[in-house]
Amino acid sequence: MSQKPIYLDCHATTPVDERVLEAMLPYFTERFGNPSSINHAYGWEAEAAVKKTRETLAKAINCGPEELIFTSGATEANNLAIKGVAEAYFTKGRHIITVATEHRAVIDPYRYLESLGFEVTVLPVQEDGLLDLDQLEKTIRPDTILVSVMAANNEIGVIQPLAEIGEICHRHEVLFHTDAAQAIAKIPLDVDAMQIDLMSLTGHKIYGPKGIGALYLRRRNPRVKIAAQLHGGGQERDIRSGTLYPPQIVGFGKAVELGLEMMEEEAERLQGLRNRLWEQLQSLDDIYLNGHLSQRLPGNLNVSFAGVDGSALLLGLQPTVALSSGSACSSTATTPSHVLTALGRSEALAYASLRFGIGRFNTAEEIDRVAETTRQTVQSLRQAKTI
Ligand SMILES: *Cc1c(COP(=O)(O)O)cnc(C)c1O
Repeated sequence: MSQKPIYLDCHATTPVDERVLEAMLPYFTERFGNPSSINHAYGWEAEAAVKKTRETLAKAINCGPEELIFTSGATEANNLAIKGVAEAYFTKGRHIITVATEHRAVIDPYRYLESLGFEVTVLPVQEDGLLDLDQLEKTIRPDTILVSVMAANNEIGVIQPLAEIGEICHRHEVLFHTDAAQAIAKIPLDVDAMQIDLMSLTGHKIYGPKGIGALYLRRRNPRVKIAAQLHGGGQERDIRSGTLYPPQIVGFGKAVELGLEMMEEEAERLQGLRNRLWEQLQSLDDIYLNGHLSQRLPGNLNVSFAGVDGSALLLGLQPTVALSSGSACSSTATTPSHVLTALGRSEALAYASLRFGIGRFNTAEEIDRVAETTRQTVQSLRQAKTI
């Protein structure tokens, strides 16, 4: 039997950590209760588990446990934040600001709002992927109600200056939303220090289960109003109806708890592996690092290889390493990555790019094999072209 390729696509998803699975299992069977059942022990037990995850998440981002709304993931959290704020504040203004490198789960809700008559300014980024703060400040108008800037990018790993953005937003009394799907439990987050009003989270990028996430919603200074997008049984303070899913919620909590425990040590290890890969790749000519060198997630490396065909490169690597050229959500699209073109990369270079997402279960031996295979594949594709 052929061996499975080395998994290096941790920005798309990650395997569930064994310790997370173990914590989840009882909640499928003996502890199956509905957390909203207030009249018996089955409900109380499930509610206690949900409460524990709320407390873990609250600790992770420095908010109150009552400021978290469980959702099916970051896509839903982004939709709830963006559409929910637009609907609650449209009498105050209809101008919204976001950034060209956002995930489609932010960009597409904004496109939808445009179709309803909102005006959306999409700010460019600098060559290194960072937002220009002066430009952000100049773009804010009296009718601006919301700014969305992601915490860490899912393609190039670039970490935006959240505290500076939050300070600008609050000085102008505009709400600040951040998609932290790639950042939670990987880099320090603090909604007070960073003056964040809404934050989208998900479990499956941090060794938790798929299908669970949360939206942080600030309740004081200021108290953020939001319009529900799912109506029904009134769960989650009427903001997000639907029976809570304790196994996923417990897994999410455990994943965040483990991520927090290991954060510093693991960041150092991943950065070591990332640098090891980058050093080895640099024996190739004409390669370009995408995104800021140090202001990025420790496990991320994104590189463009001039003079090779992107799909031939991925095909050549497929038996050895599982990765992608950009976001998993757009990897079937025939257009080049909107994130790389936003950095000013040509279409050809954007196509010929690899996103290496290194994670908890990768080893130095794997990194060496990936580096060697990538080098050989790029070289042979370049040679084939010159023949
Ligand atoms: C993965 C991801 C999402 C989507 O999250 P889901 O939980 O899969 O819906 C949104 N934003 C970013 C930045 C992501 O990386």
